[in-house]
Amino acid sequence: LTSGLESAWNKLKGVDVLTKENIAEPMREIRRALLEADVSLPVVRRFIQEVSEQAVGVGLIRGVRPDQQLVKIVHDELVKLMGGEVSDLVFAKSGTTVILLAGLQGVGKTTVCAKLALYLKKLGKSCMLVAGDIYRPAAIDQLSILGEQVGVPVYKEGTDVKPSEIAKRGVEEAKKKNIDVVIVDTAGRLQIDKTMMDELKEVKRTVNPTEALLVVDAMTGQEAAALVTTFNVEIGITGAILTKLDGDSRGGAALSVREVSGKPIKLVGRGERMEDLEPFYPDRMAGRILGMGDVLTFVEKAQEVMHQEDAEDLQKKIMSAKFDFNDFLKQTRAVAKMGSMTRVIGMIPGMGKVTPAQIREAEKSLKITESMIDAMTPEEREKPEMLAESPVRRKRVAQDSGKTEQQVSQLVAQLFQMRVRMKNLLGVMEGGSIPALNN
Ligand code: GDP
Ligand code: MG
Repeated sequence: LTSGLESAWNKLKGVDVLTKENIAEPMREIRRALLEADVSLPVVRRFIQEVSEQAVGVGLIRGVRPDQQLVKIVHDELVKLMGGEVSDLVFAKSGTTVILLAGLQGVGKTTVCAKLALYLKKLGKSCMLVAGDIYRPAAIDQLSILGEQVGVPVYKEGTDVKPSEIAKRGVEEAKKKNIDVVIVDTAGRLQIDKTMMDELKEVKRTVNPTEALLVVDAMTGQEAAALVTTFNVEIGITGAILTKLDGDSRGGAALSVREVSGKPIKLVGRGERMEDLEPFYPDRMAGRILGMGDVLTFVEKAQEVMHQEDAEDLQKKIMSAKFDFNDFLKQTRAVAKMGSMTRVIGMIPGMGKVTPAQIREAEKSLKITESMIDAMTPEEREKPEMLAESPVRRKRVAQDSGKTEQQVSQLVAQLFQMRVRMKNLLGVMEGGSIPALNN
């Protein structure tokens, strides 16, 4: 976004609470910036309304100023507008996945075929391309060259064969060869016309694709969103690929497609090289649209604070539950599950940041821990002291869970260590001690 916004934002810096009045100017600036980025008007209106509703009444929360929180609200709404999460490609449950690419002429379909094949190859999938654009002999050659460049076979026939026939035989060939993914290139026109739509419908009916993706040029701004809508209504698509993001500094297409068409952007092309295709990450795009470095720092700071609040909740829970084996199990399960959320693990007192290798290790030891805790009586779980005091009980747990007595003793010791560590960290109670296990 632009400098007008920045100055509007600066005026907000001293306020104690966000009101309808004091956010009016920043909202006007956001509105202007979005319209300049060629986001469609209804989308802009809804966006501004949503942000305003959330913002009014927001005050200082834990050291994060209201203006900083407004940035976070804008950021989060941008992410939501673009669909929130990454929308992954869908693969056939078994057999060959068929991906059909459609789109106007020159948007980058043929290039995307090869880029996508390379992308999927890196995911360990075998690919094949089908040259379904028969209108220019050069199009078939172009696909062949690109296919060779990324090391993927290309199925082609002459220019006098119907595209649906070529697509049909190409897909059959891929299935026969047990290829994981076959990508069908099609012809585009400069404008939407009935011949193109009819041809696409026929190809789609013939190959029954797992993914029918519309390739759109990001530089066309809100026109891209309208195209996705039209193609979806006409032939039915599963998502869009936004190309030439490297040439679009404004982000209008990225912002509008999902909201206007209801279809997700699955991948983006951001350059002419074969490697320049990647999943569409709404949060990164929101960051890019907000642009300003200091704005992003605000957002991160605000998020950090939210996480701190979560962590404090967690700590309170741990304290009030006195941290028995039930909590221990919940905790261990949570840690094991959080594979993708390493930052959350950073919040668990005394655990610090955790590496992926450590997470895998945690998953393995979770199974062992679970089996031992399963073998405890409910009373033992709530009063770990019972186990600390009684070797007979520990022996029974070991036998019932098929683990060694040493493993059970370790688990019991671990629980008490965690208790102490948490209490110390929280400074709620002084000291505390780890009982020596009676033998
Ligand atoms: P098609 O007519 O839809 O098949 O489009 P092509 O695949 O032939 O691409 C048209 C032009 O756009 C080519 O010159 C490509 O190199 C270029 N192109 C495709 N994708 C991108 C991209 O993400 N960024 C840039 N800068 N150029 C692209
Ligand atoms: Mg082409």
